[in-house]
Amino acid sequence: MTLAFTHDVRAPRVVFGAGVLERIPEELDRLGAARVLIIRTPRRGDAVERVAAAVGARLAGVFDGARMHVPAEVADAALVEARRVDADLCIAVGGGSAIGVAKAVALRDGAPFVAVPTTYAGSEMTAIWGISEGGRKTTGRDPRVLARAVLYEPALTVSLPPAVTAASGMNALAHCVEALYAHDGTPVTALMAEEGIRALAAHLPGAVRDGADLDARTGALYGAWLAGASLGAVAMGLHHRICHALGGTFNLPHAETHAVVLPHVAAFNAPAAPEALRRAARALGADDAAGALFDLAARLGCPTSLRDIGLREDRLDAAAVLVTEVPYPNPRPFGPAGVRGILQGAWAGRRPAGHGAGSAPRE
Ligand code: NAD
Repeated sequence: MTLAFTHDVRAPRVVFGAGVLERIPEELDRLGAARVLIIRTPRRGDAVERVAAAVGARLAGVFDGARMHVPAEVADAALVEARRVDADLCIAVGGGSAIGVAKAVALRDGAPFVAVPTTYAGSEMTAIWGISEGGRKTTGRDPRVLARAVLYEPALTVSLPPAVTAASGMNALAHCVEALYAHDGTPVTALMAEEGIRALAAHLPGAVRDGADLDARTGALYGAWLAGASLGAVAMGLHHRICHALGGTFNLPHAETHAVVLPHVAAFNAPAAPEALRRAARALGADDAAGALFDLAARLGCPTSLRDIGLREDRLDAAAVLVTEVPYPNPRPFGPAGVRGILQGAWAGRRPAGHGAGSAPRE
């Protein structure tokens, strides 16, 4: 057996479980925070009120302008607000959009932040930031945007609507699947990813069926933590490249695009990463990971075709070229023909063929 790896992963402190919001004062003491700015998206719900109550007299302000993909003007406005209220710590309450704004503030000002996630997107566990300007999203990794603590309270996710639960959950699954074949993966990251798939596959159906089922919500959030930790630890592959290209250029919805594309990339990569896909299949309780991912997405009520989320078929050639413009790590080499095959299967919503036959022709 040959085994060689470098495991060098920095991850935030994590506090998980029912009642963690009561520990906010303790966390603020630990970080020496005296003036807190809460960052959120403008949605209804009691998550922010509960966090604000726990922050108490140290609450300096609430910025509720967070938006998807962190437009530069939103990042600027949040920074102005943080300075205006003289905040020494931000708390991002919400999904990837709120956490993304807190990261942008941390990047520009060095102000630390704590994350209280309410979706399964996983941004809270990564040092990846993204800011969009003039129709382009710039991303990067920077240790300054790593949360100082992440507080996971499953009860905050009960208000996530079924469709968001499903798509956000499939987005988390994609982090785990790609982590299993990442070129910089280690035995520990693979364990996290496999367990993340198991937890998400086991608990997402219950969370979609009954959003108030706290057992299912707890299991799904536990899986989402592992998925975020996997995303933060290793490089993602072709699946993420395709989703970012489609999302950025054709304005497709982020999480739903992940749900549609993932089974097709899993099928494409299976011949080149059989052990990774075997582990994914085991965690899904199936023989074939690609088919099981497709079935799970369908069972959760996610869209299963790019056609259904608004991509025109005559865009597929251009999309395939776009995807291959940038080199990306992936277990199976890919070019326009291979990606075109993946996109065709995903566009039509075909269930990918089993056992790694894939839906795409060989390059
Ligand atoms: P989001 O944060 O935009 O949330 C989706 C919608 O759900 C919003 O309208 C939000 O207000 C609402 N919402 C959130 N929590 C809710 C709850 N508990 N109940 C009811 N409604 C709720 O979406 P997201 O999928 O969490 O994040 C997507 C964004 O995050 C994208 O911009 C993506 O690029 C980014 N992202 C970044 C990373 C990273 O590591 N940097 C990782 C994953 C995602």
